Amino acid sequence: MKYYSTRGFDKNESFTDIILEGLAPDGGLYMPKTYPNIINKLNLWQDLTYNELAFEVLQLFCDDIPTQDLKDICDRTYTANTYKYTRSNEAAHEITPLTILEHSNKTLCLLALSNGPTLAFKDMAMQFLGNLFDYVLDKKQQKLNILGATSGDTGSAAEYAMRNKDNIKVFMLSPHNKMSPFQQAQMFSLMDKNIFNIAIEGFFDNCQDIVKAVSNDREFKTINQIGTVNSINWARIVAQIVYYVKGYLNAIKQLNLKIGDKVSFSVPSGNFGNICAGHIAKQMGLPIDKLIACTNENDVLDITFKTGKYIARSEKQTEQTSSPSMDISKASNFERFVFDYNKQNTAKTKQQFEEFSKTNYIDFSINQDYIENFDKFGFVSSKSTHAHRLDIIRDVYKRYNIIIDPHTADGVKGAREYMNDNIPMIVLETAQASKFESVIQSALGFIPQRHSDFMEIENKAKNLTVLDNDLDKVKGFIQKYV
Ligand SMILES: *Cc1c(COP(=O)(O)O)cnc(C)c1O
Repeated sequence: MKYYSTRGFDKNESFTDIILEGLAPDGGLYMPKTYPNIINKLNLWQDLTYNELAFEVLQLFCDDIPTQDLKDICDRTYTANTYKYTRSNEAAHEITPLTILEHSNKTLCLLALSNGPTLAFKDMAMQFLGNLFDYVLDKKQQKLNILGATSGDTGSAAEYAMRNKDNIKVFMLSPHNKMSPFQQAQMFSLMDKNIFNIAIEGFFDNCQDIVKAVSNDREFKTINQIGTVNSINWARIVAQIVYYVKGYLNAIKQLNLKIGDKVSFSVPSGNFGNICAGHIAKQMGLPIDKLIACTNENDVLDITFKTGKYIARSEKQTEQTSSPSMDISKASNFERFVFDYNKQNTAKTKQQFEEFSKTNYIDFSINQDYIENFDKFGFVSSKSTHAHRLDIIRDVYKRYNIIIDPHTADGVKGAREYMNDNIPMIVLETAQASKFESVIQSALGFIPQRHSDFMEIENKAKNLTVLDNDLDKVKGFIQKYV
């Protein structure tokens, strides 16, 4: 499989050539040159375990890694021990257990993607990335220093994936004292030598600006072997395709349907990484009817799919909500979908996104049939507010005796808007309720039971360095420890 940029850069690169980079050199995102079709394989894959299925799906895209090596990476990554934080009625060996919540005239299921070490779905891809990077760096005899900014889930998922990896160091910036105590504790309690938590006296935007400034300093970046693991990384997207296939196969089995019958997925969305994997799975022939992009008050994507106008928010217009991992000003993976929407026309995509970087605006509604075009790809959308979230958490608890987190509640909101009699609806559960105790307290009047591993996490010793909001100080710190 060869890869090229949504904006046309094409050096016929293979998987391992592109994954250590973020953006393509022309500012676009890497895409495979074709989508392999899997419809005739689904029957053969029905009884595979998660790690076996991951290998089958990933080898279609990672074909420059020797078969046995890729198999080993999948076997190391998708273990019951890593994804062990299941609900009491779920089996850890399933990795992503599917629970049928409702199966009357309408069918509603929950696909648990948050049983990994940080209790959020980012572990699904990031754990793979950790093992993959370690392998590739070993082969290339390289080291990598990952620099990132986080306001919550991404940073901890990256650190838990990269800890103890000899070829990798992680420098993670976060806004000092701005994350929830649980989130801070998850990151800061890691004592591994290769993990550097840097708390910046400022806000998340300041952290992000520092990362951007370092990324734009080519010389510093090259000398210090700086890389990123943000949500546009192709290896993350590709690893996320696997659970759409697994969720589909499980639904077919558990609901006594047959391969070829359709299901829909409702996806709590921020940077469009998760749902982009669903889009690609559908293009590969997985029988998906609808892909519901669920947003919170930061409804950039909902507006796009309903009006054809993709309008980025400014940082000021981006609200802090009770589903904080979906608080985005623009959706960084959206360009991948637009590329397909443009029938892979790289010149058009380049023109639109270069324009977008100046105007923050792309207008799809200049073509009258834009809604039908979105619909052809299965895309619809929804928006929820804090009040919806609380109502849905209460309602789901009352009906099914399950506590869902606020992001998953946004997913249930979208699912209910588009459920119909014939097609099962699968909501992706992207985080566990324990991470958002205060929201659950507001909704239910009590806090959810924590797994014993997290009982005293806020009281553990902390490994962090507090730095001023100052680019040179951060650069100095990195240089000292790389
Ligand atoms: C990151 C995240 C999302 C959003 O996923 P995207 O890939 O950015 O669309 C949703 N829910 C949770 C809990 C997350 O951590």
